[in-house]
Amino acid sequence: MRQRLVAGNWKMHGSLPGNQTLLEAAAATAGRLREAKCVLCVPFPYLAQVQGALMVTRAAWGAQNVSHHPKGAFTGEVSAAMLREFGCTYVIVGHSERRSLYGEDDSTVSLKAAAVLAEGMRPIVCVGETLSQREAGDTEQVIGNQLEAVMDRIGVQGLRKSVVAYEPVWAIGTGRTASPEQAQAVHAFIRSSVAQQSRETADALPILYGGSVKASNAVGLFEMPDIDGGLIGGASLDAAEFSAICLAADHKTVERA
Ligand code: PEP
Repeated sequence: MRQRLVAGNWKMHGSLPGNQTLLEAAAATAGRLREAKCVLCVPFPYLAQVQGALMVTRAAWGAQNVSHHPKGAFTGEVSAAMLREFGCTYVIVGHSERRSLYGEDDSTVSLKAAAVLAEGMRPIVCVGETLSQREAGDTEQVIGNQLEAVMDRIGVQGLRKSVVAYEPVWAIGTGRTASPEQAQAVHAFIRSSVAQQSRETADALPILYGGSVKASNAVGLFEMPDIDGGLIGGASLDAAEFSAICLAADHKTVERA
């Protein structure tokens, strides 16, 4: 059975005292999950706090970005080895905000995925189309290219240890969610693209949906056969919402088992 997971992306939010509530809630929620995994991807400065709070819990944690260089004169950058020292097991790469605001292209994203894998962590590789690309009928072309760049770099073996997140750019932080059917169609496309290289890898690959997921729409999305959980932005900053989303993913697992 595929791993189900719900990863919170705190983006550039948080404070040392404020994080404590979210961490306590995540720890409690993770303890209630039977199959699904709860992951928090937090800003770099909070990794030590998160490690201390979650170390003895069933929740996992990670970062939202990483340098593709192993070390050197790259002021302001953080390496995969540094993230591993703080107990990270997941790293988001290629989030649309990194692509659009910081000019990360498919090649850079693929290098980052490789850097994460080289340190024994799992990249959460984000792919997704803009509204104009969707309206032009280019969704599959765009996502196919984003995926291919990563697959070419890390191969099927690398993908076997990765997670893919489908995040339509038009749904991120907009309150406008893809319908379960719209999301399922793209998830099925992603899985079938991977299957062209390896059916086994495709069947085992967790594909998360991200884009304005809330407790109220999570169940409908997670009921879809190729949606294996979520990458959650805004709602991950609300302990009750995030917990309900994690439990929705888990109940689906239990029902399916
Ligand atoms: C995200 O940041 O990856 C995301 C999906 O954000 P939101 O849930 O706020 O749309």
